[in-house]
Amino acid sequence: MSLEVVLFIALALILLAAGITIGRKSSLSLSGSVVQTVPVIEPINFAEPSDKSIQQMMDQLPVTPETVKAYLNVAKTLRQKGQYDQSIMVYQHLFGRANLAKVVNQEIQLHLAQDYYNLGLSNRSESLLMNLVKENSVFRFKAITELVKIYEQQKDWQNCINWGKQFGRKISEQQKKALSHHFCELAEVDIRKRAYASAEGHLAKALSENKQSFRAWLLYARLMLLWDHPKTAMKYLQKAIHANPVFIAEVFSFIDQQDITSFARDVREMIHAISGLEKMPSVMADKLVRDKQLLLSLGRQEINSKVVQLLINQADLTNVPADLAAIIHWADKHLVSHTSHQCSHCGFELNKLEWQCPSCKSWETVADKLDWEAQLSQSHRKVF
Ligand SMILES: [Zn+2]
Repeated sequence: MSLEVVLFIALALILLAAGITIGRKSSLSLSGSVVQTVPVIEPINFAEPSDKSIQQMMDQLPVTPETVKAYLNVAKTLRQKGQYDQSIMVYQHLFGRANLAKVVNQEIQLHLAQDYYNLGLSNRSESLLMNLVKENSVFRFKAITELVKIYEQQKDWQNCINWGKQFGRKISEQQKKALSHHFCELAEVDIRKRAYASAEGHLAKALSENKQSFRAWLLYARLMLLWDHPKTAMKYLQKAIHANPVFIAEVFSFIDQQDITSFARDVREMIHAISGLEKMPSVMADKLVRDKQLLLSLGRQEINSKVVQLLINQADLTNVPADLAAIIHWADKHLVSHTSHQCSHCGFELNKLEWQCPSCKSWETVADKLDWEAQLSQSHRKVF
């Protein structure tokens, strides 16, 4: 039985118990005179729910501790279908009833806040959530999670941090990771404003939340180069790769942005020393698409069959030319149009690394589609 049918039956039973008959206008006596008039309630068609049918349900069905569950189920079905304006109608109808238990009212308040957010009404959502935190309700942590979501959307990183801190000891690993990224965001703003000392402070906090933050170590390396400390920068790049080799391609992008050729060469040598480029064919595949200069400098023998195989898989094609110049041309033509990154949490595909998935808003779940980690064996990682 579908959820809609179950809900409709549940609602019908409640209405019958309340003495209301669905779909019957009146009953006639044998003489033809009307002896009883009962209200007509149109069943809610969940495939295409109308405001009128929802309003009718609310007019006819009193809100009591017994009926509230059916109401909440109706609202839940509406929000699952993305009908937030209608689920809000129902939650608003239920909210603040003196005959409902406090915890039920708080649950309604949380749902209402979530659907205001879903509809883009952040201000309304924010004040309801703040109430839940102030009341110290059982939904306090859920409310804080929702508040952080709102400030992330507004890129109000300081507020994300202020609220994130309120998790206290109950903070989860995922929330710590998010908090670390919020500090990284502030550090990036600092670097853009050349407020380097402040950036360093924010990066230290990012690392205290998550020691394994690739992003924080990479930003540290950037800061060290800005301060003209290439040796320390190199050390931090190693720490970044060690923390999370999944993002190793970002190190290539990073050195490409630097003007210091000798530094770029040293970093390439360092990465080569970790495992050898031929052991990281995915690095090569990535670079074939994004860094033609590197490809030309390597020569044909480095583009081994494994690399070519990866390119074939990535492009989903079977015929790859053997000649180097032709491969570059081929890569240009066939690979650039393919998405290179994907979120491991929701499957969203995109063409560059985003620290927060644009679709599901998870942090650090977007990575290169190729399996980098498998290319770096544990023994090679012991180099650090
Ligand atoms: Zn995602």
